[in-house]
Amino acid sequence: MSAPKLPYGRQWIDEDDIAAVADVLRGDFLTTGPAVADLERKMAAAGGVRHAVAVNSGTSALHCAYFAAGLGEGDEIITCPMTFVATSNAALYLGAKPVFVDCEPDTGNIDSSQIEAAITPRTKAIAPIDFTGHPADYNAVTAIARKHGLIVVADAAHSFGASYQGRPVGSLADMTEISTHPVKPFTTGEGGAVLCDNDDLADKCARFRTHGITRIPAQMAEKDPGGWHYEMVDLGFNYRLTDIQCALGSSQIAKLSKYIERRREVAALYNKGLSDIASLDLPVVQEGVQPGWHLYVVRVKDKTRRRAFFERLRELGLLVQVHYIPVHWHPYYQGLGFQRGQFPASEDYFERAVSLPMYPKMSDDDAASSIERVRQAAKDVL
Ligand SMILES: *Cc1c(COP(=O)(O)O)cnc(C)c1O
Repeated sequence: MSAPKLPYGRQWIDEDDIAAVADVLRGDFLTTGPAVADLERKMAAAGGVRHAVAVNSGTSALHCAYFAAGLGEGDEIITCPMTFVATSNAALYLGAKPVFVDCEPDTGNIDSSQIEAAITPRTKAIAPIDFTGHPADYNAVTAIARKHGLIVVADAAHSFGASYQGRPVGSLADMTEISTHPVKPFTTGEGGAVLCDNDDLADKCARFRTHGITRIPAQMAEKDPGGWHYEMVDLGFNYRLTDIQCALGSSQIAKLSKYIERRREVAALYNKGLSDIASLDLPVVQEGVQPGWHLYVVRVKDKTRRRAFFERLRELGLLVQVHYIPVHWHPYYQGLGFQRGQFPASEDYFERAVSLPMYPKMSDDDAASSIERVRQAAKDVL
């Protein structure tokens, strides 16, 4: 009998999550009702900030945050190519230009020592990614941003629940985007949010989520509006998250610390079970960082063997993945003028990376079986 297939990531849904969704379906609101505000309060609290604006995806959250940061036609945003395309795509939606800075070779996070050289008079914002759930170097990034008057938007799609120098993800940047896709720290199916402390930025995100429409009298041109009156003041989108999804999110976020704790236990099992394999580099954790372990990425030392290793792991039933193809390698970005070879650390990371199964519902037996299969594959092909 072959060992069970293990995915690289997956959600953990219990009966209480199902009951929470069923309750909403029996009530008065399917979309924008009390469940949205309830989840927003819980996300803001978990992130250590005053505001959370729930939206229908992490990508929408980035779009809202970049809009609120004032990013427009011809403006530049500094980010890292070791990410999912959403991080830079959301800048392109606004006519802005992503400017890439290479990653640190070991964490895959933006290399803060290279940021200042990328700043121009058009730079408006810096968007570090907390790759794999390991927060970026926010002390360095924030110092640069303050010095040059830039806004920091964290792509924390991987890292909600993690912390940096004792501070929770959510409170480390001017605005923080999270994603609640099923493989992410907690889920609403599809979904995301912008977390921030600043009232004005939160307000801009909230308007952008619903067509740029305001019902706040102070924001309106009409001085004596009737009860029916609203005004559209920005060109926004319909990025609303439903009450159905938010009820799932509220039930899920109550278990976020349990999920993160379990991810940390699985990471510890991998660290211990794989540490003696000379042909692999294991993930590093920087001082003062408590990662969320969204991903557990091993890197083969010999990149010419990555494909064989990946394929052998798949044969053995580990549904491993590779995160990420560097954004500037995609044909669309090549069409914008980016070239292979431009960001060597990101390219090296990608060419050696394999993401092992990592999710909170993994049992000790699953982890042991995953470790056994990784050891087997390393013996067979590395
Ligand atoms: C998942 C993810 C996003 C976007 O989230 P969606 O909810 O899928 O739109 C953005 N950035 C990173 C790094 C992600 O992993």
